[in-house]
Amino acid sequence: MFNDLFSNPDSARNLLVVSYIVASAFFILSLSGLSNPETSRRGNLFGIIGMSIAFVATAVFRVNDYGILIAVIIPAVIIGAVLAARVAMTSMPELVAILHSFVGVAAVLVGYGSYLQPNKLAGAEKSIHEIEVFVGVFIGAITFTGSIVAFGKLRALISSKPLMLPGRHLLNLVMMLVCIGLGYQFMNNPNGLTPLLIMTAIAGVIGVHLVAAIGGGDMPVVVSMLNSYSGWAAAAAGFMLSNDLLIVTGALVGSSGAILSAIMCKAMNRSFISVIAGGFGTTGGTAPAEGTQPEGEVTPISVEETVHLLTEARHVIIVPGYGMAVAQAQHAVAEITKLLRKRGIEVRFGIHPVAGRLPGHMNVLLAEAKVPYDIVLEMDEINEDFPETDVALIIGANDTVNPAALDDPNSPIAGMPVLEVWKAQFSIVMKRGMASGYAGVENPLFFKENNRMLFGDAKKNVDAILAQLIDSKK
Ligand code: NDP
Repeated sequence: MFNDLFSNPDSARNLLVVSYIVASAFFILSLSGLSNPETSRRGNLFGIIGMSIAFVATAVFRVNDYGILIAVIIPAVIIGAVLAARVAMTSMPELVAILHSFVGVAAVLVGYGSYLQPNKLAGAEKSIHEIEVFVGVFIGAITFTGSIVAFGKLRALISSKPLMLPGRHLLNLVMMLVCIGLGYQFMNNPNGLTPLLIMTAIAGVIGVHLVAAIGGGDMPVVVSMLNSYSGWAAAAAGFMLSNDLLIVTGALVGSSGAILSAIMCKAMNRSFISVIAGGFGTTGGTAPAEGTQPEGEVTPISVEETVHLLTEARHVIIVPGYGMAVAQAQHAVAEITKLLRKRGIEVRFGIHPVAGRLPGHMNVLLAEAKVPYDIVLEMDEINEDFPETDVALIIGANDTVNPAALDDPNSPIAGMPVLEVWKAQFSIVMKRGMASGYAGVENPLFFKENNRMLFGDAKKNVDAILAQLIDSKK
């Protein structure tokens, strides 16, 4: 019976369709699971099951040459597994960016392969196929080069400063129009390879230019935007290969990436168009950008004084940021939280939507350290509670707690909603020095009268606080 199932082309096709439908259902369940920290593990598992079904079904029913499949898959599996196992959580956005570039280049190669492969298509079918190839290669090339620039920016290989060429919008428009003209030539020319090659090169330049024009502060949106592009590139590849599952999966990734970009834009109070237009935030790193220079003095605090303020408090809000991820301080922070709560102190976490370097970065770290989900709150849920808070403990966050975003219309991050930690009775900022955050903007919070700076590596200081809390219990 099984032999029949595999050798009869009709039953094989039916089985493939059924497998693809089941895999698609798993992908949808996976997405819905991933939308909540409590169900995210299940969501991940559904994704793995869906992908396994998709892979096995494709290998069994659509592949003729297993030699090539094995030769390609084995090194890819090894490289992927080693990279994923080794990558630090803080480097995850870079990995995601470079993986997006692979999807882009795959769509380009599928496009060329599909175009160069002899076929008997004619009339409308031929035109549709050529449109699929042209659009697929176009999106793929933009995704490929854009993702490489995003990788370079996130890894600080290239400056995160926006590249503001004069007449850049016009330049983009001209390049798009030339690509449309090349599309016309491609469709109406028996040898369309030359227009296809020229379009690929121009689309590559568009990808570089689009992402290069985006400033440091907008990188979260860029990462999710490229995620969306990579989905559409995969969907285009699905059309070229007549692979329904790839179309469905690509559309799921494309639309969820677009929704995530919209959420990120809302979190940063930016419109999608202004992100694409570029120029938000300046250099990452140490040099503060323009904007009003803060006035006042910086007041350092010791570990002992911090412990004293924390143990005297009734309400504490911890605001983690990128520095907590770099220092890997989350486990000690979770222990401190436990001890303070045992003393009857209310401890909650305030999470900014773009804290860290990838969407959900802080939630993942806190979940890893087993901080209960119900005390981890989004910015909108907790921002009004700072005036009734005794201590706001900021661990390696900077841009996401910068009052200049609200007070200084000249600040490069003006208009971005932030966690209003300065409204607490005391705010304590834990960081190593006075360096700016990712957006390269000076932070007036550090100079406020009710703010204290606990300088040093977050892990070292959090460990010291924890040790003193344990000691003071004895
Ligand atoms: P920031 O990048 O603004 O600031 C992090 C701070 O952590 C730095 O000022 C640094 O100061 C401090 N720090 C670094 N290492 C340590 C350490 N070992 N111990 C203690 N402190 C340390 O972080 P936020 O999370 O507040 O903001 C995120 C920024 O990243 C936003 O601008 C956002 O737009 C951007 N971004 C976000 C992405 C996302 O998807 N979430 C993606 C890409 C960018 P010092 O050097 O003095 O210690």
